[in-house]
Amino acid sequence: MTKYNIDRYQRQITLLGEEGQESLRRARVLVAGVGGLGTIVAADLAAAGVGFLRLADNDRVELSNLNRQFLFRPDDIGREKTLAAMERLHLLNPEIQVEGISQTIDNETINELVKDIDLIVDAMDNFATRFILNQAAFSRHLPMIHGAVRGFFGQATTLIPGKTGCLQCFFAGNPLGEIIPVIGATCGVIGSVQASETIKVLTGRGEPLTNRLFFWDGWAGEGTVIDAKRNPRCIICGGG
Ligand SMILES: [Zn+2]
Repeated sequence: MTKYNIDRYQRQITLLGEEGQESLRRARVLVAGVGGLGTIVAADLAAAGVGFLRLADNDRVELSNLNRQFLFRPDDIGREKTLAAMERLHLLNPEIQVEGISQTIDNETINELVKDIDLIVDAMDNFATRFILNQAAFSRHLPMIHGAVRGFFGQATTLIPGKTGCLQCFFAGNPLGEIIPVIGATCGVIGSVQASETIKVLTGRGEPLTNRLFFWDGWAGEGTVIDAKRNPRCIICGGG
């Protein structure tokens, strides 16, 4: 490891070891969605030295994004989110590789998006797309870090094929699309939990949020964790 990197990552090498830092450098992560959660996760992982980030989102920056998507500035309005995010992340850490894919995540595009990827971060805003990611994760045996926010509430869990249930087990209903209210600070809490989970899974350290669901209630200032058990008859992870 270079002197520059030993200095740059000094505060976390004391936690993860040089081998842990090297695991982050070699890792390839798909951040699915570059919105309130995805911008936080991508910035956290870029700063931590995750070597390759693929960002997937088909949206352009809008004025109403700016209350929570801190990677973007008013003069980014109208630009592709992935392009603006790539520029900012490159400034934050020029040593890592960031690839932006300005495409909708659907059954046509998912295979290319997860190709050569070690871990998926679910930073989406709708369950229809989450279930596409979920199926890809479980068919390819990729860990997936789920996060979702609404207003002052948020949730996160870590899915490991073969060890945990999947999103289909926990959220079989498919909520209708709508404009979800959200405060930027909630994205900060849940996005940072997702980044922590990603770093733990990639380095094999700590206790990932497996078979457990973390709930954050920002109005009450309370976090709770509940058991999230696999459904043995699940059509995605139940083994038929
Ligand atoms: Zn399942």
